[in-house]
Amino acid sequence: MDPNIRIGFFKKGAYIGLVIKVIFYMVLVFFLWRIQGNSLIFDYALESSTVKGIILQFQMIVSILLVLNHDKWGFRIALFLNSISLMYSIGYIFYNGTYESFPGIISYVCVIFIVSLIYTQFKKNEKYVAEISQQNHKLENSKEMINQMTCYDLLTQLPNRSYFEFLLSHEVTVSKRTDKTFCIIFMDIDSFKHVNDSLGHEYADEILLELVSRLKNSLRNNDVIARFGSDEFAIMITNLKSVECIEAIIDKIKIALSEPYLIENHEFFITVSMGISVFPLDGEFPNQLIENAELAMFTAKTNGKNTFAFYSNSIKNEVTYNMLLTNQLYRAIDKNELMIYYQPQVNTKTKEIIGFEALLRWHNHEFGWISPNDFIPIAEKTGLIISIGLWVFRTVCEQCQICKKSSAPSMRISINMSIEQLKEKSIIDDIKKIVIETQSDPQSIQIEVTESVAFIENDLILTRLNALKILGFSIAIDDFGTGHSSLSRLKQFPIDLIKIDMEFVQGIHLNSGKDRAIVESIIQIAKNLNIPVLAEGVETEEQYLFLKNQNCDEVQGYYFYKPMPPEEIFKLL
Ligand code: C2E
Ligand code: CA
Ligand code: CA
Repeated sequence: MDPNIRIGFFKKGAYIGLVIKVIFYMVLVFFLWRIQGNSLIFDYALESSTVKGIILQFQMIVSILLVLNHDKWGFRIALFLNSISLMYSIGYIFYNGTYESFPGIISYVCVIFIVSLIYTQFKKNEKYVAEISQQNHKLENSKEMINQMTCYDLLTQLPNRSYFEFLLSHEVTVSKRTDKTFCIIFMDIDSFKHVNDSLGHEYADEILLELVSRLKNSLRNNDVIARFGSDEFAIMITNLKSVECIEAIIDKIKIALSEPYLIENHEFFITVSMGISVFPLDGEFPNQLIENAELAMFTAKTNGKNTFAFYSNSIKNEVTYNMLLTNQLYRAIDKNELMIYYQPQVNTKTKEIIGFEALLRWHNHEFGWISPNDFIPIAEKTGLIISIGLWVFRTVCEQCQICKKSSAPSMRISINMSIEQLKEKSIIDDIKKIVIETQSDPQSIQIEVTESVAFIENDLILTRLNALKILGFSIAIDDFGTGHSSLSRLKQFPIDLIKIDMEFVQGIHLNSGKDRAIVESIIQIAKNLNIPVLAEGVETEEQYLFLKNQNCDEVQGYYFYKPMPPEEIFKLL
């Protein structure tokens, strides 16, 4: 029942109390009468001051409790009515000059005293409980504050050094178990003392807060940023895929922090030096990783600030090599360092050359021959693949025209194309232009795209490939078998050739027979779908004979021909 309704009920307690009192008496009388069956006892019971006294005192207890607990008029009246008998007894003493009702009065007073005592004690306890819970609440708040002060930096609210070490040791455990790698970036603001001295602490703090917000925006949510000291920060980047990823993250941080900081309408620029240590290469323990990242940061400082350095030499060398390679690649076309090699593709049955795959080669004056496996990813990352890819296309078309003019038989030429090229808005127009300018025949040109690119669930790529088909080019699916594509896509897609990845071809001789089974299945699927199939990377007679037996249409590999410069191809033809 709703307590308010209950209180409302007792508000009318004065009246209801009276009614209950009457009913109670009637029930009591009836009860005594039934038990005794004797009107004398019944009369006696009615007259009995003991029973009356008990009932009155019980009523008094209830009335007092009700008034104390719910201070309502109805209860006060009920208490007043109950007190009348007390007053009556007192009046009786004075009026009759007899002490007959004195014990009754004493017991009344005792009841009032005891009830009040119990109530006061109860109220006191309630107060204590409230005080204790208030203290508890305060304690919780202070605990949280202490936790905040011991684990986080007060200004930036970032984890402090000790909390970062705790998180780091957890990451070490997880990465050991999952065989993953992560890195620590130790960052120090260059000449922060100067910023502090010239702007004052307040503005320097503002710059720090802005820097932290930019850092947060340029990193993922699960990367941890910590503040170690006034201008020292540590960043933990988890789930790293490759060293190149670190470079990309560093670039992102540098770009984000290099924007000017606006203080009182004045622009300020700050730079940072960063040191990187990688788990587990540069240490397997939290402190070791932090120390090594810090050491690397000092190297970055001595290298002239506003830069970064890796602790480990191997990583440093790899990153430096890639950086230098990237710089060189930008000038490769202008310096005439790129060239095309051609690898013949042969008919499996007749061993006749039926086409060539154009393969890009780079000979740098400083680094010598560089494998496409090394520089194509760099070209893709930097966007250089667009201009390099068009250069390849134009050069192949031009060389084919020269070949044609020397009355060599016209053959299919395959050109590799990467996803970055296909994503380029102007790719179709650019290729169309090259075809027109070099007077090439798209029918004799095959575009090779890897399986993962061709079957990507992306409408744009599909549209571009269809546009190439419409222009007259044929499409080959490169590295087939590695892309885990759904076979139903093969049916929907306009494919002119399937190229079995050399990984499977080179496993043909293995005892397990798994690669043989894969090669067999791919050939079977291609046959069923009426698509010609070529096996790449054929190096031995055994591989060749197996493929021949399986009715593979075409083969390509060192067993027949290696990729060759155009002059040798001319001779060959
Ligand atoms: P890919 O398209 O799978 O090219 C086949 C690779 O296998 C070539 O490596 C070729 O030289 C090599 N190869 C051919 N036969 C054999 C053999 O019997 N044994 C072995 N071990 N290797 C063989 P390359 O020229 O180093 O090219 C590597 C990759 O670079 C190519 O793989 C292709 O993905 C990419 N690439 C090459 N040229 C271009 C290009 O012009 N544009 C684009 N986007 N990518 C290119
Ligand atoms: Ca290829
Ligand atoms: Ca391939």
